[in-house]
Order: sequence, then structure tokens, then C-alpha cells
Amino acid sequence: MTSALETGSLPNAYLFTGPEGVGKKTAAQALAMACNCQAGEGDGAHHAGDQTAEGGSGGSPAFSCGRCRSCRKILSETHPDVHWVLPAGNYIKVDQVRELCRRLSLKPYEAKTRLVVIAEAHTLNPEAGNTLLKILEAPPEKTLFILTARQGSDLLPTILSRCRHIRFNPISRENIKHYLEAHYAIDARDADIVAAMADGSLSNARVMVEKNWMAHRNWIIKTLTGLHEQPINYRLAFSEFLAKDSGRLLTSLDIMKSWVRDLAVYPYLPDQLINKDLIEEITARSEEMPTRRLLDINRQIETAARSIQANANARLAMDHLVIALSNKMACRDRLRPSNGENRTNGKSNRHPV
Ligand SMILES: [Zn+2]
Repeated sequence: MTSALETGSLPNAYLFTGPEGVGKKTAAQALAMACNCQAGEGDGAHHAGDQTAEGGSGGSPAFSCGRCRSCRKILSETHPDVHWVLPAGNYIKVDQVRELCRRLSLKPYEAKTRLVVIAEAHTLNPEAGNTLLKILEAPPEKTLFILTARQGSDLLPTILSRCRHIRFNPISRENIKHYLEAHYAIDARDADIVAAMADGSLSNARVMVEKNWMAHRNWIIKTLTGLHEQPINYRLAFSEFLAKDSGRLLTSLDIMKSWVRDLAVYPYLPDQLINKDLIEEITARSEEMPTRRLLDINRQIETAARSIQANANARLAMDHLVIALSNKMACRDRLRPSNGENRTNGKSNRHPV
């Protein structure tokens, strides 16, 4: 893309595909800035003569300063010639595309290159898609289109054929970790764990840090591992709490899965843990938990997650899961006195109800 900017050979439309949070929107903004940056123009609108454009290119179209009036407007999404079209509800509707057509029929206010970003283009309904296709077939001058989607196959082939396709891969654990360390007050170990759980997505990672995911994880794992020692009403209260926190319920289940996964993986790949900070606990418990039981627990968590995603009653699904997991999460030696026979040597071998 940089070379296309330098040679001025940009196509009319790009398609950026990849999972959520891998930088598609950021790349669209960067492209808009690079096409319109005023640094080096000497029009007084920028910080003339300072350490502006990267590499000191003084207006090279491949770079943007991030500080001139144009760049700042694009970053704050207030630039009048950068148009964002987002799904209204579940779809991008034809009226939205018609409104876009109307705006594109007018002259640009100030931009050298006008930019249109159709975010989540896979949500274009058929009529909206066909209307957009007409614009792409005869695009207005100096107007660049960027469509974003999870994958190219989600789009109408006719639209796909009009775009230069650029794929965005999930971001590596290492890169997410470095980003978090640079932008948040988070220590390296926590950043690494969040990065492992963010599924290659920077926006996932950001939300996790901002919503104090580590504290939530600590609480879930601690409660889960001690559940077999608690009475039934405590277990049900745990289940109820998780079910009511519907915005984080699937995250909570992912945390449980990460814990079970670490216990299963530890004997074979001890350097591949997600919850690396809990290695002592993992070492102790992993020895006591047969792999088959861990796989069974994992299957039960996945079943609960699937039924919740399919709109099953979350409370019932969680009650069922938590009761099933309570005993299974106990270490082998703690499971033995389960038929009413108390062991006699223990001081506080409290029985679950
Ligand atoms: Zn600039």
C-alpha cells in the first residue's frame, strides 16, 4: 500500500478483511491521513519546520504527521470528506448508501482525496450492495473506498471484484503484549496473559485491560478451584452471579476453559501456559487431574457456552455446569471420601453438601 501511495497508483477501492480488532479501522484512518496530510505544504495549517512527517519526508504521500489540521480531523472522525458508513442495527441499508451517493455528488470540502469507509460491508443488504456497486463501477473523482469485512467470501462477488483485497492477520501475542505495556500501567506478566487470551485482537485486549479482566480471572479461578469445598447454596450463588453478569458471561466461560486447558497442557507443553502466573497452582493440580477428566470438563464448558449463545436460559445452563464441575475440579485425593466415609486423619476435611 505504501508503494501505491508513493507512486500515486492507488486503486479506487480496497477491501480489508480479518477478524475483529486487528487494525482494519486504524489502517483506513492511516490511509485517509496519508492521502490528505498537510505537513510540508507550507500553508500554515501545520507545524511547519518541526519534526513532522516520519522519516522527515516533508509531505511524502506515504506518510502522515498525525498533527496537522487534516490528520487531527481524521483521527477525531470529524473530517467532512471522510465518510463512515456503519451498520444501522444488523444491516447497512439502502437509504444509507443513497445518502452516501448524494454526498458524493457534491464537491469535496477540503480533502485532496475523499475517503469512504464502508465498515462491516458483509452487512450490506442486497439492495444496498447493488447500489454501492453502481458507485464503485463509476466512482467520483479522487474518491477512495475502503470496505472492511471478516472475509471476502461474505461479499457479493461483483463488489469483491472491484476491490483490491488486503488481508489482516490476527496480531501475535508478543505484539499485543508490547502494545499493552506501552499504553497501559500493566506489568509484563499480566500483559502477557491478557495478550494470550485476546485471540489476536488488539481491541479485545484493550477492553480486557480497561474492564479489569485480570481481577475477574483471579476471582473465577480461585472460586472454581475451591468450589468442591463449598456448600450447594454457595455454588448456586456463584452460578447466579456469573449468569446475571451477561455481558461477561462468555468471557467467564473462556477463563474457565483457559484454566482447564492449562491443567491439561502443562504435563506436555509447560512453556505454553496462558495463566503463567499461576504455575505453582497449575503444577500441583495438574498432577492430580487425569487428562480424560479435564477433557470432559472442557466439553461441558463448551456445551454451556454453545447453549447460551443459542439463547438458552443462562441461569439454568450455568447451574447445570457449576454443579457438574464442582466435584470434577477437586483433586483426586480430595474426591475419595465421597460415599459418606469420612477420612479420619484430616483436621478440616469439610464435605461439600
Ligand atoms: Zn498531517
